[in-house]
Amino acid sequence: MGKMDWVNEELNGLKEAGRYVPIRVLESSQGAWVKIEGREVLNMCSNNYLGLANHPEVRKAAIEAIQEFGVGAGAVRSIAGTNSIHVELEEKIAKFKHMGAALVYQGGLLANAGTIPVLVGKEDIVISEELNHASIIDGVRLSSAKRAVYKHMDMDDLRNQLKVHRNEGKKALVITDGVFSMDGDIAPLPEMAELADEYSAMSYVDDAHGEGVLGDNGRGIVDHFKLSGKVDIEMGTFSKALGAMGGFVAGSEELIDLLKQRARPFLFSSALNPGDAAAVLKSIEILEKDDSFIKKLWDNSKFLKESLANLGFNMGHSKTPITPVIVGDAKKTVELSKMLYQEEKIFASPIVYPTVPMGTARIRLMPSAVHSREDLEFAISAFEKAGRKLGIIS
Ligand SMILES: *Cc1c(COP(=O)(O)O)cnc(C)c1O
Repeated sequence: MGKMDWVNEELNGLKEAGRYVPIRVLESSQGAWVKIEGREVLNMCSNNYLGLANHPEVRKAAIEAIQEFGVGAGAVRSIAGTNSIHVELEEKIAKFKHMGAALVYQGGLLANAGTIPVLVGKEDIVISEELNHASIIDGVRLSSAKRAVYKHMDMDDLRNQLKVHRNEGKKALVITDGVFSMDGDIAPLPEMAELADEYSAMSYVDDAHGEGVLGDNGRGIVDHFKLSGKVDIEMGTFSKALGAMGGFVAGSEELIDLLKQRARPFLFSSALNPGDAAAVLKSIEILEKDDSFIKKLWDNSKFLKESLANLGFNMGHSKTPITPVIVGDAKKTVELSKMLYQEEKIFASPIVYPTVPMGTARIRLMPSAVHSREDLEFAISAFEKAGRKLGIIS
């Protein structure tokens, strides 16, 4: 046995379990239709909710910023990488989110992985939602804090976990995804923030799938529940509805000040590129002026969900545009995705364990504001055909 033979064994194991996901290569920009292997296919799995990734004004803003500032930020933020455009973006985010201040990171994953270890350490405790995103889990691991997990959406269990475990930590942090990315349900944030307060724990929400989707002009989940000032830390990404790349954390001015001294992705990884910063600034400006994209997104998702449910698909219990088509069996889900792609020109990736719990494999459809009604009808009839062939619907 060679010392690297385990790699192939592991890959074969994934393939046998139906958990090996082929990675498609896109040869075009992100739009309703994309080019893959020379064919135009309908894109049903991008997080580009509002079409801003390819919006002419957003592109133009990025190009202009590159012309003015160049392509790279040149250094970590604390040495020579902080550009006026980063500061402008941070001010914009803080205002947009109605928070005291904000800090921009190079990605959402880094925002979580970088922030959580500043908030808590080994003498503290994190009370974490069962279905939290991997980047939260990584952040908690990096912090070395003790950890308790509360059941998905279950505020009685959160209270119980706080009761039992609060005293195990000097500081405590209650942390949750705002919109759950695989199911599309919305965390009961008002109750969560209140419970956190009651037990003197910090409250933290990851709004990656709420920005540009929930709240006035896409301000996100805190605005959706009118909780301004009641959630201590709000984290988000620029890579989904906002169309570009990067992440942020918003909170009090003091907290942001401390993060600039302590957060490792801020101190040890180079700054977000100027083009991305300018693109996000423009995306937020567009949202502030015009919420028609958001309305279109919600209309499209309502139509898609209702039509697929009428055909007999298991659509779960999403409350947002995230549209899971739950098949259950991983192999069958991979087969459905393959058939949709090869025979029906639908690009919709399978999502299997460990991204979702065993036995709940699914295709997660992401309708967007740039899909036309005809695009969605095309997708629905493709699901009808493939779903019947595979015996998923009758
Ligand atoms: C996508 C996502 C992230 C990571 O954001 P990136 O900017 O893509 O790194 C973090 N949290 C949640 C809930 C997400 O869905």
